[in-house]
Amino acid sequence: MGTPKIVILGAGYAGIVTALKLQKGLNYNEAEVTLVNKHDYHYITTELHQPAAGTMHHDKARVEINDIIDSSKVKFIKEVVTEIDRENKKVKLENGELHYDYLVIGLGSQPETFGIQGLIEHAYSIRSINAVRQIREHIEYQFAKFKNEPERTDYLTFIVGGAGFTGVEFVGELADRIPELCREFDVDRELVRIIVVEAAPQAIPMFDPSLVDYAMEVLASKGVEFKLNTPIKECTPEGVVLATGEEIRSATVVWTGGVRGNSIIENSGFEAMRGRVKVDEYLRAPGHDDVFIVGDCALVIDEAVNRPYPPTAQIAIQHGYNLSHNLLTLIRGGGQLESFKPVIRGTVASLGRGEAIGIVGNKKLIGGVASLMKKVIDARYLYIIGGLSLVLKKGRF
Ligand SMILES: Cc1cc2nc3c(=O)[nH]c(=O)nc-3n(C[C@H](O)[C@H](O)[C@H](O)COP(=O)(O)OP(=O)(O)OC[C@H]3O[C@@H](n4cnc5c(N)ncnc54)[C@H](O)[C@@H]3O)c2cc1C
Repeated sequence: MGTPKIVILGAGYAGIVTALKLQKGLNYNEAEVTLVNKHDYHYITTELHQPAAGTMHHDKARVEINDIIDSSKVKFIKEVVTEIDRENKKVKLENGELHYDYLVIGLGSQPETFGIQGLIEHAYSIRSINAVRQIREHIEYQFAKFKNEPERTDYLTFIVGGAGFTGVEFVGELADRIPELCREFDVDRELVRIIVVEAAPQAIPMFDPSLVDYAMEVLASKGVEFKLNTPIKECTPEGVVLATGEEIRSATVVWTGGVRGNSIIENSGFEAMRGRVKVDEYLRAPGHDDVFIVGDCALVIDEAVNRPYPPTAQIAIQHGYNLSHNLLTLIRGGGQLESFKPVIRGTVASLGRGEAIGIVGNKKLIGGVASLMKKVIDARYLYIIGGLSLVLKKGRF
Protein backbone atom coordinates (compact mmCIF):
# COMPACT_ATOMS: atom_id res chain seq x y z
CA MET A 1 0.00 0.00 0.00
CA GLY A 2 1.31 3.50 -0.84
CA THR A 3 -0.02 6.42 1.16
CA PRO A 4 -3.15 4.95 2.73
CA LYS A 5 -6.42 6.44 1.53
CA ILE A 6 -8.99 7.07 4.26
CA VAL A 7 -12.41 8.09 3.00
CA ILE A 8 -14.95 9.46 5.50
CA LEU A 9 -18.58 9.58 4.37
CA GLY A 10 -20.72 12.17 6.16
CA ALA A 11 -19.60 15.21 8.12
CA GLY A 12 -22.04 14.75 10.99
CA TYR A 13 -20.92 14.34 14.58
CA ALA A 14 -19.12 11.05 14.03
CA GLY A 15 -17.58 11.93 10.66
CA ILE A 16 -16.38 15.42 11.52
CA VAL A 17 -14.85 14.36 14.85
CA THR A 18 -13.07 11.45 13.13
CA ALA A 19 -11.72 13.85 10.48
CA LEU A 20 -10.66 16.53 12.98
CA LYS A 21 -8.93 14.09 15.31
CA LEU A 22 -7.12 12.48 12.37
CA GLN A 23 -6.11 15.95 11.20
CA LYS A 24 -4.62 16.60 14.61
CA GLY A 25 -2.82 13.25 14.89
CA LEU A 26 -1.49 12.79 11.35
CA ASN A 27 1.99 13.71 10.28
CA TYR A 28 2.51 15.33 6.89
CA ASN A 29 1.78 12.87 4.03
CA GLU A 30 1.08 9.98 6.39
CA ALA A 31 -2.38 9.37 4.92
CA GLU A 32 -4.68 10.81 2.30
CA VAL A 33 -7.89 11.71 4.13
CA THR A 34 -11.00 12.64 2.16
CA LEU A 35 -14.20 13.83 3.81
CA VAL A 36 -17.37 13.69 1.73
CA ASN A 37 -20.57 15.49 2.69
CA LYS A 38 -23.62 16.56 0.74
CA HIS A 39 -23.47 20.11 2.11
CA ASP A 40 -20.47 22.38 2.59
CA TYR A 41 -21.44 22.80 6.23
CA HIS A 42 -21.66 20.56 9.29
CA TYR A 43 -24.93 20.93 11.14
CA ILE A 44 -25.52 20.60 14.83
CA THR A 45 -28.48 18.24 14.77
CA THR A 46 -29.05 18.46 18.52
CA GLU A 47 -30.02 22.12 18.06
CA LEU A 48 -32.26 21.73 15.02
CA HIS A 49 -35.51 21.79 17.02
CA GLN A 50 -34.86 25.50 17.61
CA PRO A 51 -34.61 26.74 14.00
CA ALA A 52 -37.49 24.37 13.18
CA ALA A 53 -39.70 26.25 15.65
CA GLY A 54 -38.16 29.59 14.65
CA THR A 55 -36.65 30.39 18.05
CA MET A 56 -33.09 30.45 16.68
CA HIS A 57 -31.61 31.28 13.28
CA HIS A 58 -30.47 28.17 11.40
CA ASP A 59 -27.02 29.70 10.81
CA LYS A 60 -26.31 29.23 14.52
CA ALA A 61 -26.78 25.49 14.03
CA ARG A 62 -24.29 25.05 11.21
CA VAL A 63 -20.57 25.45 10.72
CA GLU A 64 -18.74 25.80 7.40
CA ILE A 65 -16.61 22.68 7.01
CA ASN A 66 -13.76 24.62 5.41
CA ASP A 67 -13.60 26.84 8.51
CA ILE A 68 -12.68 23.92 10.75
CA ILE A 69 -10.65 21.54 8.61
CA ASP A 70 -7.05 21.97 7.58
CA SER A 71 -7.11 21.36 3.83
CA SER A 72 -3.44 20.35 3.84
CA LYS A 73 -4.41 17.28 5.90
CA VAL A 74 -8.07 16.60 5.05
CA LYS A 75 -9.52 17.05 1.58
CA PHE A 76 -13.18 18.03 1.69
CA ILE A 77 -15.48 17.12 -1.19
CA LYS A 78 -19.04 18.41 -1.36
CA GLU A 79 -20.81 15.47 -2.97
CA VAL A 80 -23.68 13.05 -2.54
CA VAL A 81 -22.79 9.44 -1.82
CA THR A 82 -24.98 7.01 -3.74
CA GLU A 83 -23.49 3.57 -3.10
CA ILE A 84 -20.65 1.70 -1.44
CA ASP A 85 -18.93 -1.03 -3.42
CA ARG A 86 -17.03 -3.04 -0.82
CA GLU A 87 -15.79 -5.64 -3.28
CA ASN A 88 -13.89 -3.06 -5.32
CA LYS A 89 -13.20 -0.79 -2.35
CA LYS A 90 -14.85 2.21 -3.88
CA VAL A 91 -17.59 4.71 -3.15
CA LYS A 92 -19.94 5.89 -5.84
CA LEU A 93 -20.85 9.56 -5.78
CA GLU A 94 -23.42 11.43 -7.83
CA ASN A 95 -20.53 12.80 -9.88
CA GLY A 96 -17.68 10.33 -9.75
CA GLU A 97 -16.18 7.76 -7.43
CA LEU A 98 -13.52 7.42 -4.77
CA HIS A 99 -11.22 4.52 -3.92
CA TYR A 100 -10.35 3.75 -0.35
CA ASP A 101 -8.07 1.65 1.78
CA TYR A 102 -10.11 2.45 4.89
CA LEU A 103 -13.69 3.57 4.76
CA VAL A 104 -15.61 5.38 7.51
CA ILE A 105 -19.39 5.48 7.09
CA GLY A 106 -21.06 8.21 9.12
CA LEU A 107 -24.09 9.02 6.98
CA GLY A 108 -26.50 9.51 9.86
CA SER A 109 -30.13 8.54 9.96
CA GLN A 110 -33.48 9.03 8.32
CA PRO A 111 -37.01 8.86 9.72
CA GLU A 112 -38.37 5.45 10.72
CA THR A 113 -42.06 5.29 9.92
CA PHE A 114 -42.85 1.91 11.52
CA GLY A 115 -45.09 1.26 8.52
CA ILE A 116 -47.42 4.19 9.28
CA GLN A 117 -48.95 5.13 5.96
CA GLY A 118 -48.56 8.62 4.61
CA LEU A 119 -45.80 9.81 6.93
CA ILE A 120 -43.16 10.12 4.23
CA GLU A 121 -45.57 11.97 1.94
CA HIS A 122 -47.36 14.26 4.39
CA ALA A 123 -45.28 14.74 7.54
CA TYR A 124 -42.25 16.93 8.11
CA SER A 125 -39.19 15.73 9.99
CA ILE A 126 -36.46 17.58 11.87
CA ARG A 127 -33.42 16.21 10.10
CA SER A 128 -31.37 18.86 8.31
CA ILE A 129 -30.96 22.60 7.86
CA ASN A 130 -33.09 22.48 4.72
CA ALA A 131 -35.81 20.52 6.49
CA VAL A 132 -36.02 22.89 9.46
CA ARG A 133 -36.06 26.00 7.26
CA GLN A 134 -39.08 24.50 5.54
CA ILE A 135 -40.83 23.66 8.83
CA ARG A 136 -40.33 27.18 10.19
CA GLU A 137 -41.61 28.81 6.98
CA HIS A 138 -44.54 26.41 6.84
CA ILE A 139 -45.60 27.19 10.43
CA GLU A 140 -45.50 30.93 9.79
CA TYR A 141 -47.46 30.50 6.57
CA GLN A 142 -50.25 28.66 8.43
CA PHE A 143 -50.85 31.75 10.55
CA ALA A 144 -51.02 33.93 7.42
CA LYS A 145 -53.40 31.48 5.74
CA PHE A 146 -55.66 31.32 8.78
CA LYS A 147 -56.16 35.08 8.68
CA ASN A 148 -57.65 34.66 5.20
CA GLU A 149 -59.66 31.50 5.95
CA PRO A 150 -60.68 31.89 9.60
CA GLU A 151 -62.87 28.76 9.55
CA ARG A 152 -59.75 26.63 8.94
CA THR A 153 -58.60 26.06 12.52
CA ASP A 154 -56.63 23.06 11.23
CA TYR A 155 -54.07 25.64 10.07
CA LEU A 156 -53.47 26.40 13.74
CA THR A 157 -53.33 22.77 14.91
CA PHE A 158 -49.78 21.45 15.11
CA ILE A 159 -49.34 17.72 15.57
CA VAL A 160 -46.07 16.20 16.67
CA GLY A 161 -45.81 12.44 16.24
CA GLY A 162 -43.61 10.96 18.97
CA ALA A 163 -42.94 12.07 22.54
CA GLY A 164 -39.28 11.06 22.55
CA PHE A 165 -36.33 13.39 22.89
CA THR A 166 -36.79 15.26 19.62
CA GLY A 167 -40.56 15.62 19.91
CA VAL A 168 -40.41 17.00 23.44
CA GLU A 169 -37.57 19.41 22.64
CA PHE A 170 -39.42 20.66 19.57
CA VAL A 171 -42.77 21.29 21.30
CA GLY A 172 -40.96 23.15 24.08
CA GLU A 173 -39.60 25.57 21.47
CA LEU A 174 -42.81 25.70 19.43
CA ALA A 175 -44.84 26.59 22.52
CA ASP A 176 -42.41 29.46 23.14
CA ARG A 177 -42.78 30.70 19.55
CA ILE A 178 -46.58 30.59 19.36
CA PRO A 179 -47.29 33.72 21.45
CA GLU A 180 -44.96 35.72 19.19
CA LEU A 181 -46.71 34.42 16.05
CA CYS A 182 -50.13 35.12 17.60
CA ARG A 183 -49.05 38.71 18.23
CA GLU A 184 -47.60 39.12 14.75
CA PHE A 185 -50.69 37.74 12.97
CA ASP A 186 -53.37 38.97 15.43
CA VAL A 187 -54.46 35.44 16.30
CA ASP A 188 -56.12 34.42 19.56
CA ARG A 189 -53.72 32.04 21.40
CA GLU A 190 -56.71 29.95 22.49
CA LEU A 191 -57.22 28.86 18.87
CA VAL A 192 -53.75 27.34 18.56
CA ARG A 193 -53.24 23.70 19.55
CA ILE A 194 -49.99 21.78 19.90
CA ILE A 195 -50.75 18.08 20.25
CA VAL A 196 -48.14 15.39 20.85
CA VAL A 197 -49.31 11.92 19.88
CA GLU A 198 -47.34 9.00 21.27
CA ALA A 199 -47.92 5.23 21.00
CA ALA A 200 -46.08 4.40 24.24
CA PRO A 201 -47.68 4.93 27.65
CA GLN A 202 -44.96 7.39 28.69
CA ALA A 203 -43.15 10.35 27.13
CA ILE A 204 -39.31 10.55 27.08
CA PRO A 205 -38.90 7.09 28.66
CA MET A 206 -35.11 7.51 28.96
CA PHE A 207 -35.70 9.79 31.95
CA ASP A 208 -36.62 9.02 35.53
CA PRO A 209 -40.43 9.32 36.17
CA SER A 210 -39.99 12.36 38.47
CA LEU A 211 -38.20 14.22 35.65
CA VAL A 212 -40.84 13.15 33.14
CA ASP A 213 -43.56 14.50 35.46
CA TYR A 214 -41.69 17.79 35.71
CA ALA A 215 -41.39 18.00 31.91
CA MET A 216 -45.09 17.24 31.45
CA GLU A 217 -46.04 19.99 33.90
CA VAL A 218 -43.79 22.56 32.20
CA LEU A 219 -45.10 21.70 28.74
CA ALA A 220 -48.74 21.57 29.88
CA SER A 221 -48.32 25.04 31.41
CA LYS A 222 -47.22 26.25 27.96
CA GLY A 223 -50.37 24.76 26.41
CA VAL A 224 -48.99 21.50 24.97
CA GLU A 225 -51.47 18.61 24.94
CA PHE A 226 -50.32 14.99 25.12
CA LYS A 227 -52.12 11.94 23.79
CA LEU A 228 -50.13 9.01 25.18
CA ASN A 229 -50.86 5.34 24.51
CA THR A 230 -52.24 6.48 21.18
CA PRO A 231 -50.62 5.11 18.01
CA ILE A 232 -51.01 7.06 14.78
CA LYS A 233 -52.58 4.83 12.14
CA GLU A 234 -52.22 7.07 9.14
CA CYS A 235 -51.03 10.51 8.13
CA THR A 236 -53.08 12.18 5.40
CA PRO A 237 -53.06 15.57 3.69
CA GLU A 238 -55.81 16.53 6.19
CA GLY A 239 -54.02 15.47 9.38
CA VAL A 240 -53.75 12.18 11.25
CA VAL A 241 -56.00 9.19 11.85
CA LEU A 242 -55.36 7.57 15.22
CA ALA A 243 -55.61 3.86 16.03
CA THR A 244 -58.69 4.73 18.09
CA GLY A 245 -60.38 5.87 14.88
CA GLU A 246 -60.27 9.51 15.92
CA GLU A 247 -59.17 11.92 13.20
CA ILE A 248 -57.35 15.15 14.03
CA ARG A 249 -57.39 17.72 11.30
CA SER A 250 -54.08 19.53 11.00
CA ALA A 251 -52.11 21.22 8.27
CA THR A 252 -48.84 20.50 10.08
CA VAL A 253 -47.65 17.09 11.18
CA VAL A 254 -44.05 16.79 12.34
CA TRP A 255 -42.87 13.20 12.75
CA THR A 256 -40.22 12.66 15.43
CA GLY A 257 -41.15 9.09 16.34
CA GLY A 258 -37.93 7.34 15.46
CA VAL A 259 -34.95 7.04 13.16
CA ARG A 260 -33.23 4.31 11.18
CA GLY A 261 -29.78 4.23 9.63
CA ASN A 262 -29.21 5.85 6.23
CA SER A 263 -30.74 3.68 3.47
CA ILE A 264 -27.42 3.70 1.56
CA ILE A 265 -26.23 1.12 4.09
CA GLU A 266 -28.91 -1.43 3.21
CA ASN A 267 -28.88 -0.53 -0.48
CA SER A 268 -25.14 -1.27 -0.56
CA GLY A 269 -25.73 -4.80 0.75
CA PHE A 270 -24.75 -4.43 4.41
CA GLU A 271 -26.66 -6.64 6.79
CA ALA A 272 -28.53 -4.19 8.95
CA MET A 273 -31.27 -3.84 11.51
CA ARG A 274 -33.37 -0.76 10.79
CA GLY A 275 -30.52 0.47 8.64
CA ARG A 276 -27.95 0.12 11.43
CA VAL A 277 -25.05 -2.31 11.20
CA LYS A 278 -24.09 -4.33 14.26
CA VAL A 279 -20.40 -3.45 14.39
CA ASP A 280 -17.62 -5.25 16.24
CA GLU A 281 -15.76 -3.80 19.21
CA TYR A 282 -13.58 -1.71 16.86
CA LEU A 283 -16.64 -0.35 14.99
CA ARG A 284 -15.91 -2.52 11.94
CA ALA A 285 -18.62 -3.92 9.70
CA PRO A 286 -18.77 -7.73 10.06
CA GLY A 287 -16.38 -9.41 7.61
CA HIS A 288 -14.77 -6.12 6.55
CA ASP A 289 -11.68 -5.05 8.45
CA ASP A 290 -11.37 -1.94 6.29
CA VAL A 291 -14.93 -0.60 6.72
CA PHE A 292 -15.87 1.28 9.90
CA ILE A 293 -19.40 2.37 10.69
CA VAL A 294 -20.03 5.20 13.11
CA GLY A 295 -22.79 7.37 14.57
CA ASP A 296 -26.44 6.60 13.90
CA CYS A 297 -25.54 4.01 11.22
CA ALA A 298 -23.79 1.82 13.81
CA LEU A 299 -25.46 -0.51 16.25
CA VAL A 300 -23.54 -1.17 19.45
CA ILE A 301 -25.08 -3.40 22.11
CA ASP A 302 -25.17 -2.23 25.72
CA GLU A 303 -24.22 -5.55 27.36
CA ALA A 304 -25.66 -4.44 30.71
CA VAL A 305 -29.21 -4.47 29.37
CA ASN A 306 -28.63 -6.45 26.16
CA ARG A 307 -30.15 -3.68 24.06
CA PRO A 308 -28.58 -1.33 21.51
CA TYR A 309 -27.38 2.03 22.75
CA PRO A 310 -29.75 4.70 21.45
CA PRO A 311 -28.45 6.72 18.49
CA THR A 312 -27.11 9.89 20.10
CA ALA A 313 -24.65 12.64 19.33
CA GLN A 314 -22.87 11.79 22.56
CA ILE A 315 -22.04 8.30 21.28
CA ALA A 316 -21.34 9.49 17.72
CA ILE A 317 -18.68 11.89 19.07
CA GLN A 318 -17.09 9.10 21.09
CA HIS A 319 -17.06 6.89 17.98
CA GLY A 320 -15.05 9.64 16.28
CA TYR A 321 -12.45 9.74 19.06
CA ASN A 322 -12.09 5.97 19.22
CA LEU A 323 -11.93 5.44 15.47
CA SER A 324 -9.43 8.21 14.74
CA HIS A 325 -7.11 6.66 17.33
CA ASN A 326 -7.49 3.20 15.76
CA LEU A 327 -7.00 4.49 12.22
CA LEU A 328 -3.73 6.12 13.27
CA THR A 329 -2.65 2.79 14.78
CA LEU A 330 -3.56 0.95 11.56
CA ILE A 331 -1.78 3.27 9.15
CA ARG A 332 1.32 3.19 11.37
CA GLY A 333 1.66 -0.55 10.84
CA GLY A 334 -0.77 -2.05 13.29
CA GLY A 335 -0.57 -2.73 16.99
CA GLN A 336 -3.35 -3.21 19.46
CA LEU A 337 -6.57 -1.44 18.53
CA GLU A 338 -8.67 0.13 21.27
CA SER A 339 -12.15 -1.33 21.84
CA PHE A 340 -15.02 1.11 21.77
CA LYS A 341 -16.59 1.56 25.19
CA PRO A 342 -19.13 4.35 25.46
CA VAL A 343 -19.11 6.56 28.52
CA ILE A 344 -22.60 7.89 29.15
CA ARG A 345 -22.06 11.17 30.93
CA GLY A 346 -25.70 12.12 31.10
CA THR A 347 -28.62 13.37 29.07
CA VAL A 348 -30.30 16.75 29.08
CA ALA A 349 -33.51 17.55 27.20
CA SER A 350 -34.54 21.14 26.71
CA LEU A 351 -38.17 22.17 27.27
CA GLY A 352 -37.89 25.60 25.71
CA ARG A 353 -36.63 28.89 27.05
CA GLY A 354 -34.91 28.50 30.44
CA GLU A 355 -36.37 25.05 31.09
CA ALA A 356 -34.90 21.56 30.79
CA ILE A 357 -34.57 18.23 32.55
CA GLY A 358 -31.48 16.12 32.77
CA ILE A 359 -29.37 13.50 34.42
CA VAL A 360 -25.68 14.23 34.70
CA GLY A 361 -23.67 11.53 36.46
CA ASN A 362 -26.33 10.40 38.91
CA LYS A 363 -27.62 13.90 39.59
CA LYS A 364 -31.09 14.90 38.44
CA LEU A 365 -31.37 18.44 37.14
CA ILE A 366 -34.45 20.52 36.40
CA GLY A 367 -35.35 24.06 35.34
CA GLY A 368 -32.75 26.77 34.87
CA VAL A 369 -29.84 24.63 36.08
CA ALA A 370 -30.65 21.91 33.55
CA SER A 371 -31.09 24.52 30.84
CA LEU A 372 -27.69 25.99 31.65
CA MET A 373 -26.17 22.49 31.54
CA LYS A 374 -27.63 22.02 28.05
CA LYS A 375 -25.87 25.20 26.92
CA VAL A 376 -22.61 24.01 28.48
CA ILE A 377 -22.91 20.68 26.61
CA ASP A 378 -23.56 22.50 23.32
CA ALA A 379 -20.63 24.86 23.94
CA ARG A 380 -18.33 21.96 24.80
CA TYR A 381 -19.10 20.39 21.45
CA LEU A 382 -18.35 23.63 19.61
CA TYR A 383 -15.07 23.77 21.49
CA ILE A 384 -14.18 20.21 20.43
CA ILE A 385 -14.69 20.95 16.75
CA GLY A 386 -13.63 24.58 16.48
CA GLY A 387 -12.02 25.81 19.67
CA LEU A 388 -12.89 28.96 21.60
CA SER A 389 -13.46 31.09 18.50
CA LEU A 390 -16.30 28.81 17.37
CA VAL A 391 -17.82 28.86 20.87
CA LEU A 392 -17.84 32.65 20.75
CA LYS A 393 -19.24 32.72 17.22
CA LYS A 394 -21.98 30.08 17.50
CA GLY A 395 -22.53 29.53 21.23
CA ARG A 396 -25.79 30.46 22.97
CA PHE A 397 -25.32 32.38 26.18
C1 LIG B 1 -33.86 17.66 17.24
C2 LIG B 1 -32.84 16.65 17.72
C3 LIG B 1 -32.31 16.77 18.97
C4 LIG B 1 -31.34 15.85 19.42
N1 LIG B 1 -30.79 16.04 20.66
C5 LIG B 1 -29.82 15.23 21.07
C6 LIG B 1 -29.16 15.48 22.32
O1 LIG B 1 -29.53 16.40 23.06
N2 LIG B 1 -28.15 14.66 22.68
C7 LIG B 1 -27.71 13.65 21.87
O2 LIG B 1 -26.75 12.95 22.25
N3 LIG B 1 -28.30 13.37 20.69
C8 LIG B 1 -29.34 14.13 20.25
N4 LIG B 1 -29.94 13.90 19.03
C9 LIG B 1 -29.46 12.78 18.20
C10 LIG B 1 -28.20 13.18 17.41
O3 LIG B 1 -28.40 14.38 16.75
C11 LIG B 1 -27.77 12.08 16.44
O4 LIG B 1 -27.61 10.88 17.13
C12 LIG B 1 -26.45 12.48 15.74
O5 LIG B 1 -26.67 13.59 14.90
C13 LIG B 1 -25.87 11.33 14.93
O6 LIG B 1 -24.66 11.74 14.36
P1 LIG B 1 -24.14 11.11 12.99
O7 LIG B 1 -22.73 11.58 12.83
O8 LIG B 1 -24.39 9.66 12.95
O9 LIG B 1 -25.08 11.71 11.88
P2 LIG B 1 -25.52 13.19 11.50
O10 LIG B 1 -25.10 14.15 12.55
O11 LIG B 1 -26.96 13.11 11.17
O12 LIG B 1 -24.69 13.49 10.18
C14 LIG B 1 -24.82 12.77 9.00
C15 LIG B 1 -24.12 13.56 7.91
O13 LIG B 1 -24.14 12.79 6.71
C16 LIG B 1 -24.50 13.64 5.62
N5 LIG B 1 -25.11 12.80 4.59
C17 LIG B 1 -26.23 12.05 4.70
N6 LIG B 1 -26.46 11.39 3.55
C18 LIG B 1 -25.45 11.73 2.70
C19 LIG B 1 -25.14 11.37 1.37
N7 LIG B 1 -25.88 10.52 0.67
N8 LIG B 1 -24.03 11.91 0.80
C20 LIG B 1 -23.24 12.77 1.50
N9 LIG B 1 -23.50 13.16 2.76
C21 LIG B 1 -24.59 12.64 3.36
C22 LIG B 1 -25.49 14.63 6.24
O14 LIG B 1 -25.62 15.81 5.45
C23 LIG B 1 -24.82 14.89 7.59
O15 LIG B 1 -23.86 15.91 7.50
C24 LIG B 1 -30.92 14.78 18.57
C25 LIG B 1 -31.49 14.65 17.29
C26 LIG B 1 -32.45 15.57 16.86
C27 LIG B 1 -33.04 15.42 15.47
